[in-house]
Amino acid sequence: MNTRGTKHLLSWIELSAKALDHNIKSLVRLAGRRKLAVCVKANAYGHGLSEMVTLLNDRPEISYLTVHSLDEAILCRVSGWDRRIMILGPVALADLEAVFEYNLEPVVLGRESLDRLGQISKKRDQQLRTHLKLETGTHRQGVTEKELGPIARLYKKYPGLKKPYGASMHFANIEDTTNHEYAQQQLQRFGSMVGQMTRLGIKPTIRHTACSAALILFDKTRFDMVRPGIALYGHWPSKETYLSYRLAGGMNDIFRPVLSWRTKVTQIKDVPADAFVGYGCTYRTTSKTRLAILPVGYADGYDRAFSNLAHVLIKGKRAPVRGRVCMNLTMVDIADMKSIHLEEAVTLIGSQRSEHVSCEQLAGWSGTISYEILARIAPHIPRIVIAK
Ligand SMILES: *Cc1c(COP(=O)(O)O)cnc(C)c1O
Repeated sequence: MNTRGTKHLLSWIELSAKALDHNIKSLVRLAGRRKLAVCVKANAYGHGLSEMVTLLNDRPEISYLTVHSLDEAILCRVSGWDRRIMILGPVALADLEAVFEYNLEPVVLGRESLDRLGQISKKRDQQLRTHLKLETGTHRQGVTEKELGPIARLYKKYPGLKKPYGASMHFANIEDTTNHEYAQQQLQRFGSMVGQMTRLGIKPTIRHTACSAALILFDKTRFDMVRPGIALYGHWPSKETYLSYRLAGGMNDIFRPVLSWRTKVTQIKDVPADAFVGYGCTYRTTSKTRLAILPVGYADGYDRAFSNLAHVLIKGKRAPVRGRVCMNLTMVDIADMKSIHLEEAVTLIGSQRSEHVSCEQLAGWSGTISYEILARIAPHIPRIVIAK
């Protein structure tokens, strides 16, 4: 973490401890008596994994961190997290020993890895908590109904496994729609598969299905534990989730964005009328103008799709991006702004005075979702925690 303030930085991410606290309280309210597992995959949705782990370490309300990969899980341990960690994604067969070494809980996605985990548990004489992922209609990682029999036999074969600790599933169509029929079907299939697990003698101890949208919208999805990601960081999973929630009478302002992205003007340039700006000559000035050059580009996660579309904030006003976003630089128009000087503060995502550029706006401009805008902010950009 940077300890010299931002004087020496040209671009950095600010994490609001206050917004995070607000979001955790909202999640705790929604989760009620269920365990809270928060998702820190993809470098904590771009917020910075080690910084987020340090912040979450102070919150006893959180039982689990969930990650995608073994590497992320190990990083959580290295960053000081000693509570539980669940790995949602695949782990290479050759790496499964590390699951035991670091005391991790893998989500079981198939027979081969389960068998290997059983062998290792026997060799090490070490118990392992696993979570079985059930296929209920997303057709991604879950095991099918047909596979449950052989999987049950494997669980019983190895005393170190005995039965899965958790049973889980993931919704395919809960955030992109206000029609939640498909989610209801998946929930039914989950119920019937858990029933079958029980008959096969591998009744799970805890069931968990709820991503942010499910947690926010449907009590029935919460079971024994919930697994929100995006809401922790203060973002709604989608406009549809927000609308469904508000139409059902939900309170406003339950989530506040934790992340802001700041940079500085590193060059100011007067440009004549009819001049082209940047690669490909995609923008031509219509009159004499002034540009500010920013030291941020697509290699930093400021997407090339923002070219000629996005706005940044300078002195609390919007400055439009001109020309293509380059690998490490972006040009913005400051013709209408007075007395901008070198190293003037710029906001790429977040608020400045009373104006705001949200990652939802950037996602809209570039045809994607807030998740992708956040997850692609490059890890090399310093993350700084601020109190307010
Ligand atoms: C990413 C993920 C989540 C969290 O989803 P959000 O929409 O960010 O809340 C939950 N469960 C699984 C399996 C995931 O992959």
